[in-house]
Amino acid sequence: MTKPDPATAVAHWLAHFEQALSAGNGAAVRSLFHGDSHWRDLLALTWRIHTVSGRDAVADALCAAGRLSRIEVDPDRTPPRMVMRAGRDTIEAIFRFETDDGRGDGIVRLTPDSDGTLRAWTLMTALEELKGHEEHVGRARPHGESYSRDFRGPNWLDLRKQAAAFSDRDPAVLVVGGGQAGLSIAARLAQLGVDTLIVDRLPRIGDNWRTRYHALTLHNQVQVNHLPYMPFPPSWPTYIPKDKLAGWFEAYVESLELNYWTSTELEGGRYDDRDGRWTITLRRADGTRRTMRPRHVVMATGVSGIPNIPDIPSLKQFGGTVLHSSRYEDGDAWKGKRAIVVGTGNSGHDIAQDLQSSGAEVTLVQRSPTLIVNIEPSAQLPYALYDEGPSLEDCDLITVATPLALGHRTHQILTEQARQIDKPLLDGLERVGFRLDFGENGTGWQFKYLTRGGGYYFNVGCSDLLVAGKIRLLQFADIERFTADGARLNSGEAVPADLIVLATGYKGQEQLVAKLFGKDTAERVGPIWGFGPEQELRNMFMRTPQPGLWFIAGSLAQCRIYSKYMALQIKALEAGVLSRADPASREPAHT
Ligand SMILES: Cc1cc2nc3c(=O)[nH]c(=O)nc-3n(C[C@H](O)[C@H](O)[C@H](O)COP(=O)(O)OP(=O)(O)OC[C@H]3O[C@@H](n4cnc5c(N)ncnc54)[C@H](O)[C@@H]3O)c2cc1C
Repeated sequence: MTKPDPATAVAHWLAHFEQALSAGNGAAVRSLFHGDSHWRDLLALTWRIHTVSGRDAVADALCAAGRLSRIEVDPDRTPPRMVMRAGRDTIEAIFRFETDDGRGDGIVRLTPDSDGTLRAWTLMTALEELKGHEEHVGRARPHGESYSRDFRGPNWLDLRKQAAAFSDRDPAVLVVGGGQAGLSIAARLAQLGVDTLIVDRLPRIGDNWRTRYHALTLHNQVQVNHLPYMPFPPSWPTYIPKDKLAGWFEAYVESLELNYWTSTELEGGRYDDRDGRWTITLRRADGTRRTMRPRHVVMATGVSGIPNIPDIPSLKQFGGTVLHSSRYEDGDAWKGKRAIVVGTGNSGHDIAQDLQSSGAEVTLVQRSPTLIVNIEPSAQLPYALYDEGPSLEDCDLITVATPLALGHRTHQILTEQARQIDKPLLDGLERVGFRLDFGENGTGWQFKYLTRGGGYYFNVGCSDLLVAGKIRLLQFADIERFTADGARLNSGEAVPADLIVLATGYKGQEQLVAKLFGKDTAERVGPIWGFGPEQELRNMFMRTPQPGLWFIAGSLAQCRIYSKYMALQIKALEAGVLSRADPASREPAHT
């Protein structure tokens, strides 16, 4: 069989697709897809973020959704090409289209059927902008006339101060948490002209990174980690140091004119169904309180909500210092002392290494099998796309065009590769008694992160210290009990300690929601993070069963990518394109 030219094959498929869809011809739509195909829609056709799998379900859902027009390969983007995805050769093409509400981008992947006919294996459609509510960027940038021509009126700085003070109004959107999640969504909303305020309880923008351990640099590479609109300079180091990132956050807020109140904590709130607003209490630095009535509250407080302190009764006997990892700052104070660190996720390993390099004698205690992956090259394997050449925008689109099933397969392949590359280290760890794990069905660290927010370690040296015996490893089951001076093992051996660090993770966001907004709201929202029946992260980046309550979290890349779709939904609600009345129905306002 002669290999089809990707551009011709894709143009042909798209023409048939548009024809079949506009005619509402279900059989014709069905014939364009493989039996095991997937369609992921990010708002474009359904105003939902969801994935449908299987030819019949895909065709039915597409016909029910309808209304796509002007479908064509986008000449300004990476052209159709042969690539390998999830271990399969496929033609991958970026196309653009219009809907009643906006303009969108899509990605289709074609592979041959047994008879050689090219059919779609995956289709993704994403809303990129709302008609009539485009971002104020490029040629649509603000002109500045309002403050530059009236010599007696307020200038740009006066207007900025006034906007950020919120002395005469409440914001439409209150973003709680000013880390990367809060900054990304606030930047997107600002571009769409939605009045937004970020509050963070820490005293300085960037403190969420600044206060982490001394040697911290980011775990993945700079080209993957850009925030929206303002990429990091090309001279920046591959792995960004925490204080450099913290400084960038400050510059970002200033540059993108984000409204940000530091030392301001959300204490709680209630939603008023009748007028579609929250009543929120904020506690300012001086102890005073401000009540606000925003229409939307965006929780950007991190995947890790409330510290998880395990119930270990004998720990009460311990006479030294006990800290949860969230309260650990620096190893300096523990030079020459002895420490036991409980937990073998990223935090446990990093703290153990920090203490050891500060001159403490460290024992790391493993509670459950843990996935270990060397920071380089293994932990970087999932980001190979970002080094292949397509623009950041195209890479992000290709990333969201990966339905869950393909994500699983891709990460099984990458986990197996990493396991081979890291074999010497993993063998060494097993020799010292470390219990290894490779994720559910071998899907690796990425899915551990997406399903439970932890359970893995990117080795930046602590695993080597364990193998070399410079940090001692113990299994939790070997500890009989904690004593006034440390721990006593089942063997009778005493392990002395001055410090015990509990690197035992965090409780889910559900508990934080219950604490801040009440049990009823938490029950209404249900589980947050981890995958649900729609093959998407539950309650993340999309409307939740609680009107006006939103969640954003995840890696810098996830925040950059999904903040766009979240902002479009909020803008659509604010502009009346989407109905606020019954978010559970998830219907557009005009149907
Ligand atoms: C060593 C290390 C390396 C990492 N490397 C990478 C990497 O390379 N790439 C990557 O993408 N990720 C990396 N991460 C993980 C991840 O990006 C971070 O954990 C990140 O901080 C999450 O951002 P966030 O905005 O969701 O939450 P956070 O950074 O946790 O920010 C939440 C903010 O909410 C505030 N807050 C919470 N509750 C309230 C309240 N009630 N009122 C007001 N404010 C509140 C907090 O003060 C905090 O500032 C790394 C993490 C570590 C520890």
